[in-house]
Amino acid sequence: MMILNLLVVEDEPEFADYLRRGLSYDGYQVRVASSAEAGLEEVRRSPPDLIIFDVMLPLMDGIMACRCLREWGYAGPVLMLTARDAIDDRVTGLDSGADDYLAKPFDFDELLARLRALLRRRGYGTSILSFADVELDTRLRTAARRGSTITLSRTEYDLLLFFLSYPEQTLTREVLLENIWGTAPGLNSNVLDIYISRLRHKLGEPPLIHTLYGIGYVLKK
Ligand code: CA
Repeated sequence: MMILNLLVVEDEPEFADYLRRGLSYDGYQVRVASSAEAGLEEVRRSPPDLIIFDVMLPLMDGIMACRCLREWGYAGPVLMLTARDAIDDRVTGLDSGADDYLAKPFDFDELLARLRALLRRRGYGTSILSFADVELDTRLRTAARRGSTITLSRTEYDLLLFFLSYPEQTLTREVLLENIWGTAPGLNSNVLDIYISRLRHKLGEPPLIHTLYGIGYVLKK
């Protein structure tokens, strides 16, 4: 599993922290810089896979900083964050060298979707497993149904990945327990039912994981 390295350049500590927490939770490794100068220094030290620049920064703004980066030859994707009423031609024309922009306030899922699209375009590629309207990206470790992100715990993710790897096949309780939890001594097999029920709940309707009484489960429409 490749962990992608993101740099967030934002001078408002609370908003920077909100971004850091949300992006870390989504599986990214996140560094935060509180000024354009500090951000440029971070890039020089170790270039990130993607940069999120707030346009409104003290001294040097995000647009200037992005121009600098491109002059240095930084080729990774750059996303600009801007106040809704401050979107101007410099940003929308993307002549700063940014690849995309998002107006504040924004929906966090929208930000995640934009990042995934940018990373995909830049050849980070994706490894998408899908069944019906469920998609799982094994590189970014994200899941979605009908385009809406589903937040999964590590075990729920592993379970969904396993089901998507064997669609429309009977998976016995033994096979699931062994593949998801290993042969942990004394493991209560009820743990499987608990996780299946959580996963079903998160996946919503119509149900895709069906019970085969006394046998196990199957992923089918
Ligand atoms: Ca700011």
